[in-house]
Amino acid sequence: MSARRIDGKAAALALRQQVAAEVARFQGTTGRVPGLVTVLVGEDPASAVYVRSKGRATVEAGMQSFEHKLPADTSEADLLALVERLNADPTIDGILVQLPLPSHIDANKVLTRIDPDKDVDGFHPVNAGRLAIGLPGFVACTPLGCLKLLRAELGDLSGKDAVVIGRSNIVGKPMALLLLGDSCTVTIAHSRTRDLPAVVRRADIVVAAVGRPNMVKGDWLKPGATVIDVGINRTDDGLVGDVDFADASTVAGAITPVPGGVGPMTIACLIRNTFVSAARREGFTVNP
Ligand code: NDP
Repeated sequence: MSARRIDGKAAALALRQQVAAEVARFQGTTGRVPGLVTVLVGEDPASAVYVRSKGRATVEAGMQSFEHKLPADTSEADLLALVERLNADPTIDGILVQLPLPSHIDANKVLTRIDPDKDVDGFHPVNAGRLAIGLPGFVACTPLGCLKLLRAELGDLSGKDAVVIGRSNIVGKPMALLLLGDSCTVTIAHSRTRDLPAVVRRADIVVAAVGRPNMVKGDWLKPGATVIDVGINRTDDGLVGDVDFADASTVAGAITPVPGGVGPMTIACLIRNTFVSAARREGFTVNP
């Protein structure tokens, strides 16, 4: 058996085109262009690449992109003051502070200072809480992208057994809550889980968000399972996921590749969250 390859690139392009159409309609009605600001502190090359591609995608969707590039020795107080200014700026609908921040800055303090209604990354505790109790807010872009891929692949997720490997605040936990929201029976696995292969083998849906190259093997999977690989691991063989793609493809029903799976959906969901933020601010109706 060879699993269907879930094309995250195509899904992301479709979502971005849909947002572009919505942005045009929004601008026609309100006369306003949604704006996303990215804040990059320091010279981390991977972060610079991420920020650039987020900016490009924002502009391609017809929105405004603002960038603040700050030196690595920026003080926490200065960064907090910038966040306050951006919170108060009516042309800004989304604020994204690129992580990681330099070690002398308390990232939690900075993320918590962002206005929750401009927190398009969905990392603010208020948005984490809203997700937990089912209120509208902003959901972290990577798990949101995974959910969209799963719904497109499987339709109704209700009653499915889902295993999320990883319990980070930015991927694993929100992913589990989203799957629960879609009425899956959810198990969250982590580094202390006993007999992980046996846990994973029960799942109709597997989301791997671990950061260990090729960890999940084909014989861990229930035949026909849908596998979403969030992992991005740089190895001598290039970029690989947390799932052994070739091996898992012989057992899974469908699987996301790395690259070209979850990654592109993350950016598309950021663009969508930014538009939704602007729409909420203007009382503009958004299609689900
Ligand atoms: P974290 O390091 O914050 O979390 C990793 C999780 O994996 C932890 O909960 C940890 O458990 C668990 N874990 C570690 N080792 C094992 C193991 N041997 N067995 C079972 N569980 C284990 O990572 P993130 O959630 O931030 O990211 C996960 C991966 O996703 C990374 O590769 C990252 O690069 C990628 N990523 C990709 C994105 C994209 O856009 N595609 C966006 C964000 C992340 P414990 O809590 O017990 O330590």
